[in-house]
Amino acid sequence: MTSSLRDIIDLAELQEMMNFFYEAVRVPVGILDPDQQWLVQVGWQPICTNFHRRYPLSRQRCLQSDSNIRQHLQGDEHLTYRCPHGLEEVAFPILLNGNQLAIFFMGQFLNQPADHDFFRRQAIHYGYNLDDYLAALAQVPIISQERVEYLMRFFKRFLGLIIKIGEENMRRRLAESATQEAKEQLEVKVEERTRELNQALNEVGDLAVQLSSALSQVEQLAVTDSLTETYNRRKFDEIVLQEHTQVQSGKRPFSVIMFDIDFFKRVNDRFSHSVGDQVLQHLCRVVRGLTRHADLLIRWGGEEFLILLPSTLLDEAVPMAERIRIEVEQEAFPVAGQITISLGVAQFRSEESVDSLLKRVDAALYRAKQKGRNRVVVEADSPQKTIK
Ligand code: GH3
Ligand code: MG
Ligand code: MG
Repeated sequence: MTSSLRDIIDLAELQEMMNFFYEAVRVPVGILDPDQQWLVQVGWQPICTNFHRRYPLSRQRCLQSDSNIRQHLQGDEHLTYRCPHGLEEVAFPILLNGNQLAIFFMGQFLNQPADHDFFRRQAIHYGYNLDDYLAALAQVPIISQERVEYLMRFFKRFLGLIIKIGEENMRRRLAESATQEAKEQLEVKVEERTRELNQALNEVGDLAVQLSSALSQVEQLAVTDSLTETYNRRKFDEIVLQEHTQVQSGKRPFSVIMFDIDFFKRVNDRFSHSVGDQVLQHLCRVVRGLTRHADLLIRWGGEEFLILLPSTLLDEAVPMAERIRIEVEQEAFPVAGQITISLGVAQFRSEESVDSLLKRVDAALYRAKQKGRNRVVVEADSPQKTIK
């Protein structure tokens, strides 16, 4: 990780500290970054800013010297040198993990009182105003070599410490922001996944609803006669079993009506098989209109039907059969005109089997046919009762 000093420490804060330092100690200091920009600077001497570095000839030598110093700085050793114009300076590199972040300078100063002859000659050589130059020279601080050593040790340690702390802070900030970023990415991912999951769950839910409705359609189809949309024998088997069990456990008995169209062959022969089919459909609509919600109309075979009447005694079933017979007789069937049906009625006996019941009701229907059709025959104990 390469950083600049600017990233690691608060330069404004450092500048302010250096200002206090200068006010207290009067030692000029500065920090120069690798782009030759002063990051922190305080106490620069007018002798430099107004003379050495301002006049082109002397300025040239200053710049040359700056570049020499940079080249000679190695490791974390500090370099003490005298500038081309007779002033003392000290510099050391500010390092972080072996990389040079900046250069610390302390200067300009003198180790001992100025050699006035030297500076006077220098002023004349470069064409400076002598009085002003000597006044600027008088401001240059005099710092003994021993103090310089202590100051260097202080600054090395001080800067080393704040850079270490600053770098640790920076690492922590970076780690925190990386953690934050990872957390946000994770949250986005979790949200995305949750959305996808909910969508998938909704789709699965929709599929389950579709599947269950398809299943109930299939179940319905399995027990429905396709021509007349009445139930088939499979449904009868299912319901009669329930009724049978419930009657055994004390429920009211159920009854059945079995009916067959009279002379249906003639309808087919006279009008066509398809008119015969329409008669079957129409007949079922009429009968369904006369039965109760719980009653089950079953196509028993061909043009023979059975009505299962739950919780119905024979005395209630017989009038219903008679009503059906009359309604059918009175119905005007499209194309075919009038038709009649014969009906047998029986009530389930708790001790008998379903087969026995069916035999009895079938026998009643048979007798209705024998007795001339268009009538209801009740399969009572004996003798058989015939209505009409
Ligand atoms: P009966 O009064 O003795 O019942 O006389 P029938 O002519 O109705 O005689 P039967 O019940 O024996 O004949 C049933 C006829 O019904 C025979 C068959 O062609 C016809 N049939 C059976 N199923 C269908 C059907 O699904 N459609 C049509 N159009 N005719 C059917
Ligand atoms: Mg018939
Ligand atoms: Mg028949």
